[in-house]
Amino acid sequence: MIEGSPLTGADVAVVGGGFGGLSAASYLADAGADVTLLERNDRLGGAANVIEDEGFRFDTGPSWYLMPDVFERFFGHFDREPTDYYELTRLDPQYRVFFDDDPPAAAGQAPGDHGEYVDVTTDTDQIRQLFAAYEDDGGAAFDDYLAEAEHTYEVGMEQFVYEDRSRFRDLLDPAVVRCGPGLTLLGSMQDHVESYVDSRRLQQLLQYTLVFLGGSPHNTPALYNLMAHVDYNLGVYYPEGGIFGVVQALATLNRELGTTIRTGAEVTAIDPLAEGIAVETDGDYRQFDAVVANANPAHVEQDLLASVDGSGWDDQTYAPSALMFYLASRARWTRLNTTRSSSPRTGTPTSSPSSRIPSGPRTRRTTSRSPRRPTTRSRQRVTTRSSSSSR
Ligand SMILES: Cc1cc2nc3c(=O)[nH]c(=O)nc-3n(C[C@H](O)[C@H](O)[C@H](O)COP(=O)(O)OP(=O)(O)OC[C@H]3O[C@@H](n4cnc5c(N)ncnc54)[C@H](O)[C@@H]3O)c2cc1C
Repeated sequence: MIEGSPLTGADVAVVGGGFGGLSAASYLADAGADVTLLERNDRLGGAANVIEDEGFRFDTGPSWYLMPDVFERFFGHFDREPTDYYELTRLDPQYRVFFDDDPPAAAGQAPGDHGEYVDVTTDTDQIRQLFAAYEDDGGAAFDDYLAEAEHTYEVGMEQFVYEDRSRFRDLLDPAVVRCGPGLTLLGSMQDHVESYVDSRRLQQLLQYTLVFLGGSPHNTPALYNLMAHVDYNLGVYYPEGGIFGVVQALATLNRELGTTIRTGAEVTAIDPLAEGIAVETDGDYRQFDAVVANANPAHVEQDLLASVDGSGWDDQTYAPSALMFYLASRARWTRLNTTRSSSPRTGTPTSSPSSRIPSGPRTRRTTSRSPRRPTTRSRQRVTTRSSSSSR
């Protein structure tokens, strides 16, 4: 509890019981507010939910537990640790990437029988060797890329994520300017990775995390290279009980902090009053001192806040949606031993359709970082294929 907090005793509603709403509610309750969390579904979690049927259980949204430091910092704020609520297992291999310029699998053929894939493991030496297998100076390029990603992550988290810099003048803070050297803020991810590696597949490997944004490497800022540090250094984890186990941990934390959680409570209007804010739920109005709306912002501005002109959302480009299929099998599929990613198809494939060798170098470099050693590229077979596969 924060001593002397201006929120002490304030009546605060939090709309939305996903990760965002649950964490906002925790901080507010800890600051002394009387928090009521309103979630329209019967279950908390929002995008982070589960389907359970016939003994099978799926995480319906997020399944990668990334950036464990963020969770440690979050629970640390409440003098707790993630392990007070759930155990973590670091995945190894972390995930498997298939390259989509290979021919599609024939009927009855297992993924991996027909094309090249790489396993990204927890062993950075192995990743360095993987990069070296594609390009003669790939190992050094990987080290350089990772060092920059680590710097970008540290600056990005401290100066942009944990600090609120929503206005341009916030960026002129001396703390930001001091961190500037060596920080890639401008330019696209495509330009950025091209300045390190020529192989299209290595470029795709470094860019696959853009799927998390629904972004294209051509218009996503290079700052996003920090994900390589998240990936290769910090790792990918699986929480006990799946990601929904983390939702349950946040719900438990909220109850410990005194938050009132109401599920099945759809908010239909948020109306600012002369004093306070009225929140309509199921036809009933209740007045709060403050409201935090952590539902989709387009929904909040268009449907809930009559006082806001939500027409600006009509011109917005939304990130792509995905149609998800959840398949269950009682057989053991040893090749499906990890999270799977398919690399996006960007540009023209440079290898022959049946090739399992790395694609050749591109002849033109569009940006330059620092001069790299000239390379004599040899085409080598990638050696990361799993030998344990039986199907
Ligand atoms: C398929 C998929 C895979 C993902 N994979 C990962 C991953 O591997 N790792 C990762 O870190 N992130 C991943 N993400 C992103 C992550 O899931 C989201 O960033 C996060 O869950 C968003 O949380 P949120 O609380 O902001 O929003 P949401 O989860 O959308 O929560 C909003 C909540 O508000 C409620 N709500 C809406 N309107 C109302 C209303 N009128 N009244 C009351 N309640 C309302 C909704 O029911 C919902 O519960 C993935 C997302 C998806 C969709």
